[in-house]
This record gives sequence, structure tokens and C-alpha cells, in this order.
Amino acid sequence: MSEQSIYYFDNNATTRVAPEVVAAMLPYLTEQWGNPSSAYSFGNQLGEALTAARESAAALLNADPREIIFNSCGTEANNAVLNSALLTQPGKRHIITTAVEHSANIKFGEVHEKRGGEVTWIPVDRAGQLDVHEIAEAIRKDTAIVSVMLANNETGVIFPLEEIAALCRAKGVLCHTDAVQTPGKLPLDVKAMGIDFLSLSAHKLHAPKGIGLLYARRGVPWQPYLIGGGQEQGRRGGTENVAQIVAFGKAAELAIASLENDASRIRAQRDRMEAALMDTIPGVTRNGAKEPRTPNTSNLSFANCEAEAILLLLDRAGICASSGSACTTGSLAPSYVLTAMGVAPEHALSSVRLSLSKYTTDAEIDFLLEQLPPIIATLRGASPRPEIAAASEISG
Ligand code: PLP
Repeated sequence: MSEQSIYYFDNNATTRVAPEVVAAMLPYLTEQWGNPSSAYSFGNQLGEALTAARESAAALLNADPREIIFNSCGTEANNAVLNSALLTQPGKRHIITTAVEHSANIKFGEVHEKRGGEVTWIPVDRAGQLDVHEIAEAIRKDTAIVSVMLANNETGVIFPLEEIAALCRAKGVLCHTDAVQTPGKLPLDVKAMGIDFLSLSAHKLHAPKGIGLLYARRGVPWQPYLIGGGQEQGRRGGTENVAQIVAFGKAAELAIASLENDASRIRAQRDRMEAALMDTIPGVTRNGAKEPRTPNTSNLSFANCEAEAILLLLDRAGICASSGSACTTGSLAPSYVLTAMGVAPEHALSSVRLSLSKYTTDAEIDFLLEQLPPIIATLRGASPRPEIAAASEISG
């Protein structure tokens, strides 16, 4: 399928690499391919490129460049921080996280439980929101860390991290946030947020897959997850992925320059798309709170239609969307995020996530609005249960 014929509404899964990012990283694959740790200048001159990228990434977060640890992805960042919190505090075996985190946290927590550790899984309500008091009540003397995502990848619902971090600080507990779904969509300021750790992944920000970072507040105890060379100031072994780090730096720079414009345009496009779908198709409900929510995400349930069938027909029209997180695509089980919100299985199985980016055009949205209503009508016509459940909006 040619690039022209793709209508991309799955930016929470991954994003198109910005041409400026490709241009910035290419020289580090073609000409300047040395090892930055080498003693000769062909290698060690790359230090400048790494420093500039680290400064840009730090600026995106209002962090100090020394607080940035480049790694391979958001999954590594989340695993590394939970692992470090347990290793640096051997007497503390209790983790607090939520039931709707990315599988990087969920699976880590499950393995921790199997190894005899304890995890408190903070629940969410029907709007996908949590109650900070439940975190306060769950904190114990042996709590190693509280890890709560900033925005959910399936619904876009934003959690109150400033409040959670303040609570953790008051109780002397480490606080981490998985902010993978937020750069380029929300302003990020680790100082204002007051957190100890924050994870990002470049492929959600118009840079390539396979590069992520962890912000680790200066002075916070740290044990590396990958043990090897002394790269990243001894905090993450492995030869620096120079081209990808440069790409991340460029993507950060672009995001800083256009955040305000991008976020408000994307929000207006998302709201137009969502309102049109809810107005023109009967039996459409939103999953998750309307606000606070990332400006690009819409998770909608289409009564009496299977999401997998909708996605198949959308795909035939060249439209890319998903039924939940890319990591669980292909699973026939309802989304664990929607299930944790108390969404009924048949409702969850009819839910589609549409996620926009700064590259989404009005014409793409018009095309979706033209294609989706007849797809739903066709599927409902073929459904053995043509009646449409009364639409009850799930919002908060
Ligand atoms: N955290 C969240 C909220 C995500 O959405 C994702 C990716 O989907 C990740 C972590 C994992 O990032 P990566 O794909 O870089 O491992």
C-alpha cells in the first residue's frame, strides 16, 4: 500500500518519524559512525552530539541534562526504575502502581509478586480516574516506590501526578511516572511535578523506535538495570545509540518549538472527530473521562459491533486504528484497561481507539467521518442483535 493511501489514526501505538529527525540522525549512520567512548577523535567527537541531544531532551522536561539516562525504550525505563527502587532499598518489597498501567509495569508487578514481593494495584473508576486517597492509604513503611502513569495509552485520561508526587514526598517514598504518551501533547516539567523519575519513549514523539529515556532526579539513589560499561554516567551500560539519541534530541527540540500550536490544533481536530462520530452514529459512547485527557486520544465504543470487524473494514479503506494498546492487539480478551474501569466485556470488545498527531490532516478526519458510519451500519445490519443499546456516556 502506498504511503498516500494510509489514513493514520494510531499515534498512541507509534508515530511517523519527522523528516527533520531523519535528516538529523542520518550523518550518524553514514559518516560519523564511531564509538563515542573511543580515545581517538573520530569516536570521541560524537560526545558533542550526545551532549546537545541530552540538553534538548532535558529542556523538554525542564530537567538538568545530567538527570537524563538514555536507554532503549519506555519499557526499559519503567522496568529499570522499579528494579532500581527495589535494589537500592533492600528492606522495602512493596510497590504501588495502578491497574491500568502499560504492560511494562503490570508484568513487572506480576513477576515481583511471584517472587514473593507485594504490589498494591490502585483501581480506577468508570471514567478511568483514580482516587489519590487510595494511594495515601496504600503507602506503608516498606513501600519502595509509587509508579503511576501520567496519561493512559488507551483512554488518554490524565492522572494528577503533582498531587501524587507531593504525597510521596511527604511520606518519603520514591515516585515515578510513565509519561510515554504525553510529550508533544502536554507541557512537561519535572520540577513543577516534583517527581523522582519519569519515562519517555521517542517513537511516540516522531522519532524512531528503540530509543527511550529515564529522567532520574539528581541525588536520587540508583542501581543500573543493564550492567556493563560506564555509559550514561555509570547508570546504564551499553554503547550509546548515537544516531537514535540524536534523533530523540531533534524530536524534543521540535516538540518544544511547536507544543502550544500542535496541542490546540490536535485537540480541535479530535473534538470535531469525536463529536461528529457521536452525533451521526447511534449507540456511540466515549470510554474514559472527557477531561482531563490527552488532546489526541478518543476511545469510543460502537454498540453491537465487534471492534475487530470495524478495524478490519477500516483497514480495507486504508485507515489505521486499534482496539487498545498495540502490545495487546490480537488478543481476543477485552482490554484490561477498560475492564479495570468496570466496562462490560461486550462494550469493551466494541471499543476502538483513534489517536491523532501533529501530522493528522483535516482531510484525513473527513475521510474517516465518511468511511466509518457506513461501516458501522453494515456491521449492524449483519448483526444478529440489531437493537442498539441506549447510549450512556461514560465521562467524568
Ligand atoms: N508506557 C506507555 C504508556 C506506552 O503507551 C508504551 C508504548 O505503547 C510504553 C510504556 C512502552 O514504550 P516502548 O514501546 O518504547 O517500550
